[in-house]
Amino acid sequence: MKIHEYQAKELFRKYDVPTPEGGVADDVAQVESIAEKLGLPVAVKAQIHAGGRGKGGGVKLARAAEEVSSAAKDILGMTLVTKQTGPEGQLVRKVLVEKGVNIKKELYLSIIPDRDTASIAIVTSQDGGMDIEEVAASTPERIIKVFVNPLIGIQGYHLREVMFGLELEKEVMKPFGQILKNLYNLFVDYDCSMVEINPLIITEENGVVALDAKMDIDSSAVYRHPDVKAMHDPFEDDPAELEAAKFDLNYIKLDGNVGNMVNGAGLAMATMDIIKQAGANPANFLDVGGGANAEMVENGFRIILSDPNVKGILINIFGGILRCDVLAQGVVQAAKKIDLNVPVVVRMEGTNVDEGRRILAESGLSLINAENLADAAQKVADIVA
Ligand code: ADP
Ligand code: MG
Repeated sequence: MKIHEYQAKELFRKYDVPTPEGGVADDVAQVESIAEKLGLPVAVKAQIHAGGRGKGGGVKLARAAEEVSSAAKDILGMTLVTKQTGPEGQLVRKVLVEKGVNIKKELYLSIIPDRDTASIAIVTSQDGGMDIEEVAASTPERIIKVFVNPLIGIQGYHLREVMFGLELEKEVMKPFGQILKNLYNLFVDYDCSMVEINPLIITEENGVVALDAKMDIDSSAVYRHPDVKAMHDPFEDDPAELEAAKFDLNYIKLDGNVGNMVNGAGLAMATMDIIKQAGANPANFLDVGGGANAEMVENGFRIILSDPNVKGILINIFGGILRCDVLAQGVVQAAKKIDLNVPVVVRMEGTNVDEGRRILAESGLSLINAENLADAAQKVADIVA
C-alpha cells in the first residue's frame, strides 16, 4: 500500500529523519496561510502517489507571496501527468507546503527487499534528483548497492560502505549514518516493500534532509499498522481494482492489451507467462478463484472489458471446483449484457468441459476455441499483434 509524501514524512519525523517543516492543504487560502507561517521561500508539492511530479509541473518553488498563490491555483485541481501516472494522469486534491531548502547536493537513497540475495538492499547514488532513471540507464556504475542480512540488521560497516561509496564529506557522515540507520529501522518496523528518498539532500549548512519521501507498505502487513491503515487514500485506488474487490475477484491492472481471465493464482501467473512468451503483453492479472460462480465470472469479464487497452481476451480455465459449464454460463451472460467488441479465445479443460463447450458453441457468440495453452496464447497474440 502506497502512502503520500506528507504521510511518509510524518513517519520519517517519528524516526528522527529530518524533513523540511511544512503542512498539508486542500485549498488556496490554506496554502497561503501555511506559507505565511513558514516564511518564504516555500515549495508547493502535489500529493499524488506517482513520482516524477517535478517534471510534470506538480512541484513549484515560490519566492514571493503572489507565487505562492499562483502555484497553489495551478497545482490544486490539476490533472497531473507524470511518467508514472500514465497518460490519463491523476487529479491533485492536496498539496504539501514546505519550507524551501538550500540544496548543496542531491543524493538518491532507497531501501528495498532484494529477492536474489534474500536481503535488504540499500540502493544509493551521488547523482540523485529528478533524472535518476537516466543515471541508472546510462551510468549504472554510479548506483551503489549494499546488502543487509535482515537477521543481522544494519551494522557500522554497511553505513561506511554507503557513505564512502557516496564520497560524503566528513562533516555529514555522522548525521547521515544515523539517518540511514533510522530509515532501515523504519523500513523493518513498518513491513515496507520500499522506502525511497529522491532527493536526500545535503544542505548548504551540511545538514542532511529528506526532501522527497516515498513509502510502500506490504498490503498483507498493513493490519499490523493502524496508523498506516488510516493513511489509505481511496482516490488513489484503481477504479477497476476497487470494483473487482467488491466481487472478491483478485484483479490487478497491467500495461498490456491481452485481457485474461483465469481460475487460480498459479494458473493466472502461468497464463501471463505464456502470453508474454507468445510475444504479447497481459492487460491484467485476474484470478476469479477456484469457487467462482457465474456471477463472478460475469463481473470479471465486465471489468476486463472496462479497460480500453484490451484488444483481445484469453479465458484459460481449468475446471475443478469451478466447473466448465458454470464458467461458460458466466461468459455468455456477460457477453449478452455487454457489447462484446473484442475477440475472445477460450481454452478450457476439466469438469463438465463438454457441457461448457456446448454452451459456448450454442451461444451464438464468436468465440475462438484453443486446443491447449500454447495454442491459446498464440491465437490471442496473433489477434492483438
Ligand atoms: P518528484 O520526485 O515527484 O519530482 P520531489 O519531491 O523530488 O518530487 O521534488 C522535485 C524537486 O523539487 C526536487 O528534486 C528538488 O530539487 C525540488 N524540491 C522539492 N522539495 C523542495 C523543498 N522543500 N525546497 C527546495 N526544493 C525542493
Ligand atoms: Mg523526487
